[in-house]
Amino acid sequence: MAASSPITEPHEASRVLSELFANHKRVVFFGGAGVSTASGIPDFRSEDGLYRQQFDYPPEVMLSHSFYRSHPAEFFEFYRKKMIAPSARPNQAHIKLAELERAGSLLSVVTQNIDGLHQMAGSQRVWELHGSVHRNICQSCGAVYDAAWICAREHEDERGVPVCPVCGGAIKPDVVLYEEPLSESVIAGAVEDIASADVLIIGGTSLVVFPAAGLTQYFTGERLVIINRDPTPQDAHADVLISCDIAEAFRF
Ligand SMILES: [Zn+2]
Repeated sequence: MAASSPITEPHEASRVLSELFANHKRVVFFGGAGVSTASGIPDFRSEDGLYRQQFDYPPEVMLSHSFYRSHPAEFFEFYRKKMIAPSARPNQAHIKLAELERAGSLLSVVTQNIDGLHQMAGSQRVWELHGSVHRNICQSCGAVYDAAWICAREHEDERGVPVCPVCGGAIKPDVVLYEEPLSESVIAGAVEDIASADVLIIGGTSLVVFPAAGLTQYFTGERLVIINRDPTPQDAHADVLISCDIAEAFRF
């Protein structure tokens, strides 16, 4: 079955989603930046010029492994200002997904986001493909520091680069930077869940970023749902297409 035209009316979208959850037991949600925009976290890939006004390099450069190594002070300035959003709170999509997991209706969340909002909403089984700003790891002793610690700037060298208070080692966010591979164990977990799902709901992602976007090929279940404001390259494969605000679609 292929979707004809997208559902644009939020009430109709909610009705369709709630029916899917009522009738299927192995639902996996695969989400991208659009899930967090309603929580006030901008998609850094969207070209709003915001980053270019404030920083000398494009975000893809500032979030690369080589930039982290060569320009640590600028890297951490960008990281603190643009990647960590201390005031962001889960929106209705995060909250409903956590509720559905508790009710046994959702198997897991696979996310491209690094904001930790699914866990903040109460989700337990979350595959964070790109890591999390809530884990910042000492590369020497393995001590882990949260986002608030990075923002508090209590332990830094003279350049403003965070330093491990235990051993003096360098801190690296547990975030997958450009030029770095995704975690094999996270990929394996996400693939296993997607492969065993009977419904896959893809939300808030343009499905253009690989390898994450390639994970959807492991889905062989009954219903593929795509919720996105703009068309995606995989729309033709969807059984249900929803084109409305994702937080509104999860209001049921
Ligand atoms: Zn250390």
